[in-house]
Amino acid sequence: MNQLKYCKRCLYPSTKPDLWFTDGICGACHAFDARSTYDWENGADVLRQIISKNKINPKYDCIVPVSGGKDSTYQAWKLLKEGYNPLCITAPTDLLTSLGRQNIENLKKLGCDYVEISVNPAVRQKINRYGFFNVGDIQWPEHLLIYTIPVHAAVLFKIPIIVWGECPQREYGAGKPEDATLKYFDRRVLEEYGSLNGLRVSDLLMIDGVDEKDLYFYEYPPSELVEEIGVKGLYLDNYFPWNGIANVTIAQSVGFKTYDKPILGTIANYENLDNYVHGIHDYLKYLKFGFSRATDVACNLIRRNLLSRTDAIELVKQNDGLFPTYYMDKTLQEILDVYSITMNEFLVQCDEYTNYDLFMQDPHGELILRYDGSPTLNADFNNINI
Ligand SMILES: [Zn+2]
Repeated sequence: MNQLKYCKRCLYPSTKPDLWFTDGICGACHAFDARSTYDWENGADVLRQIISKNKINPKYDCIVPVSGGKDSTYQAWKLLKEGYNPLCITAPTDLLTSLGRQNIENLKKLGCDYVEISVNPAVRQKINRYGFFNVGDIQWPEHLLIYTIPVHAAVLFKIPIIVWGECPQREYGAGKPEDATLKYFDRRVLEEYGSLNGLRVSDLLMIDGVDEKDLYFYEYPPSELVEEIGVKGLYLDNYFPWNGIANVTIAQSVGFKTYDKPILGTIANYENLDNYVHGIHDYLKYLKFGFSRATDVACNLIRRNLLSRTDAIELVKQNDGLFPTYYMDKTLQEILDVYSITMNEFLVQCDEYTNYDLFMQDPHGELILRYDGSPTLNADFNNINI
């Protein structure tokens, strides 16, 4: 039975985790419409008041979590332009690409102090592997550390305000309707929406070679410390209009580099340039939910009237969920080798996580594959979710 129903405005399917619908329109589209009610005119002043009221560290105004991507380059640029002295913090990705490193080096040149906190790579790789085999997420450590490390830095350096970029519950509709107007990122948001797939940090102790002492940065800092400092995670999109496409242009104007070829499985060359395991993550997302990165990008463009829904369907059909034979300049085999995962183990796990109900099958129940070996989505994008 085909379970896929779609937003009538964009191409988000009903299988997208945490997505809600009313009147056939998804939460991300509703949140986009609600932008017209934002008081962006006074956003700069409101942000200034919050930052000055909460300032403890005499030198730094706020922490900006950065990856070197287009959005974080924009965040740092915008805050510097507004006259703040941010401390940029990076929790490096699982398997940083050379372009990702170049973009980090570029970001530093914007004129801010910068701290990178990386965890023991040998332990991290074990957790990557465990995440892949147990919850189908090879990027599990990254999905956690990008949120916990900036909070640790806030506590360590006594800088209460952390300025995140866009709120995912708004931008991607990934949450309860009331969270589309989220003002603050905190422990509750991390635990509810942090893509942890039911795996807790304490579960990691089951992994051979992972010890309590290895998990300091994986844990959210103790509540009493967070409260003592008064850590507040703000979203920049509450104060200034957020446009991921405009962020590319601004970031490029200050030296950010995009990839020189299309990235397999998506329709953009300007995002997710910093981690070789993105392709594996995105492919599993396609197998589990019947949509992936190309859909995410297309939906953002549709909402901004930069792409028609009809054209987007074609692009998504051609590109979404393609088998990740390579990611940027590395082959799948090279990437799997880092985690001691064999190609056969990879294929078995992929099959394990495939929701057969979403894909075309022959009369014997075998998946009908596309030219690249990935399953063919059984979708009529005009099957509207009402
Ligand atoms: Zn939508």
